Amino acid sequence: GLAIKSVAKAFGDATILKRIDLDIRDGEFISLVGPSGCGKSTLLRIVAGLEEQSEGHILLDGRPVDKVRPRDRDLAMVFQSYALYPHLTVAENIAVPLKMRRMSTLERSVLGSFLPGSRTKSRDIAKEVEAVCDALSIAGLRDRKPSALSGGQRQRVALARAMVRKPSAFLMDEPLSNLDAKMRVQARGEIAALHRQLGATFIYVTHDQAEAMTMSDRIAVMMGGEVLQVDTPDRIYQMPEDLRVAEFIGSPK
Ligand code: ATP
Ligand code: MG
Repeated sequence: GLAIKSVAKAFGDATILKRIDLDIRDGEFISLVGPSGCGKSTLLRIVAGLEEQSEGHILLDGRPVDKVRPRDRDLAMVFQSYALYPHLTVAENIAVPLKMRRMSTLERSVLGSFLPGSRTKSRDIAKEVEAVCDALSIAGLRDRKPSALSGGQRQRVALARAMVRKPSAFLMDEPLSNLDAKMRVQARGEIAALHRQLGATFIYVTHDQAEAMTMSDRIAVMMGGEVLQVDTPDRIYQMPEDLRVAEFIGSPK
């Protein structure tokens, strides 16, 4: 599992996260919701290792990963902007995490690299890229640059790039916010299907209540750098523990 233990974050004098505790089960789909500026992206970036916490620890399967580089953590992040490399084709974009893994393997085992089978070969990379492209129905786009793709297509490429290393957890920061309403509903179904298929843990940031309600095993409602309640969608809606949760979700209380 993935555990967030007393994680706090300050930027200068401003406290952005106040001692957050969250235990996430393997295979769980958990959504982070809350008003703009409450710290959702910051928390996700700390879990990914892209931002350093001021206090506390991130544990992966019981081990602190504070010193582990982002690319060596067993997770993948999908950003709102998709963050694709504009000068690379779709296939090249998707291959980036695999090439990075190959390089870090070489760095780690200069001597060991003489052993057969110790590196990921280019043709293995090509095969893995082909497999995720097929899985996300983007095989026909492999030689295009991101600028020649629609928003929905870019989103699939970003998902494919996250999937290619087969991480045990996906961190998604509003991955559908650039899509129009109709595309968003479709993509929502596809992400839910992907979650069932892969059996991986998903931490999903969204400002869309309907999205959180329909996709999640649990929802964490954040406000002002705190998690107010973590619960199933039903209970969040019907039994809000805090007036602020009720007001944010728009539920009776
Ligand atoms: P949104 O829903 O708008 O994406 P969020 O919940 O993701 O909001 P964060 O991006 O985590 O919010 O930001 C939380 C707070 O931290 C905001 O007040 C933001 O201005 C502040 N913040 C984020 N990054 C920095 C930074 N590098 N330096 C200073 N303040 C920052
Ligand atoms: Mg954000």
